[in-house]
Amino acid sequence: MKRIPVFEEKFTPTPVYRCNGNYGENEFYIKRDDLLPFSFGGNKVRKAQKFYQEIIELKPDVLVTYGSSSSNHCRIIANLATALGISCHIISPKENSHETTNTKIVASLGAKVTYCDLNQVKETIDETMEELSKAGNPYFIMGGGHGNPGTEGYVDAYEEILEYEKHAGIEFDYIFHASGTGATQAGLVVGQLLHGRKKQQIVGISIARPAEAGGKVVLDSVHEYIEHLANQEKVSQEMKEALKNKATEGLCFIDNYRLGGYGCYYEAVTDMISKVEREEGIAMDTTYVGKAFWGMTQYLQENDIKGKKILFIHTGGTPLYFNQL
Ligand SMILES: *Cc1c(COP(=O)(O)O)cnc(C)c1O
Repeated sequence: MKRIPVFEEKFTPTPVYRCNGNYGENEFYIKRDDLLPFSFGGNKVRKAQKFYQEIIELKPDVLVTYGSSSSNHCRIIANLATALGISCHIISPKENSHETTNTKIVASLGAKVTYCDLNQVKETIDETMEELSKAGNPYFIMGGGHGNPGTEGYVDAYEEILEYEKHAGIEFDYIFHASGTGATQAGLVVGQLLHGRKKQQIVGISIARPAEAGGKVVLDSVHEYIEHLANQEKVSQEMKEALKNKATEGLCFIDNYRLGGYGCYYEAVTDMISKVEREEGIAMDTTYVGKAFWGMTQYLQENDIKGKKILFIHTGGTPLYFNQL
């Protein structure tokens, strides 16, 4: 199995830029996780780096995962497989199978894609894993890079943010980002809890899930990761309970800006994307980052939040930008 140099150590912290444009009466900064150095970057690279550590130990002959045709995660895993010199098998729900730039990249990387009905995803994964296990050693990664390794990737990101704040001599009042399967938000929340930062709100802007279900998944991921830290004796049993309670009280997962759900958007979003592109030179897609950035500006306005320092994490999705051109 080959090794991937950019995944060996911790990432070089991704840059943070102060925005030029006026997006409301606050100071805006963008953390460029879209610039992570593998396969067009994005939050799925941070997650994949953590899975990679386990993959190189277990030496599978095939990576198996699932996701829609817009999935940045599937692109990263297909590319991880080619870089390791092994194969990749993706299970994809038919309901979300229109062609996007990510689908094309996944195909060009030679990943095998099996389409199935949304309600057959679990069976199809089980069958595929069983079949592949007969002939070899498959490694399964949850859709979206969900799970403790994925969460850990964003604990690292939170530490990069702390480092930036120290270096720049500022403190962010809010951290916003697009929230989907929840690992990104969970990692940030855990990072914040471990470092005891109180007066700073992390706001996940939902790109698909309603608040109750989506928020629960984030919280479950936080609890699961804290449990994992306790098992490794990195936090005490008392600390574990205290952290879990704090996470439950403080969670902010907002579903007001979903605009009809995953993949749907209005002109307000494309207008915002165009403004950010023109003023900052930063590209955003409509499914995740553009929608979340627009949602953030709405949230700040609707809650009359002014004079604050706001960090927005650009979680990637760069190839999807080209879908909307
Ligand atoms: C997957 C994804 C998200 C959501 O991340 P989760 O960890 O699943 O919440 C946000 N932005 C982009 C560009 C993504 O690809």
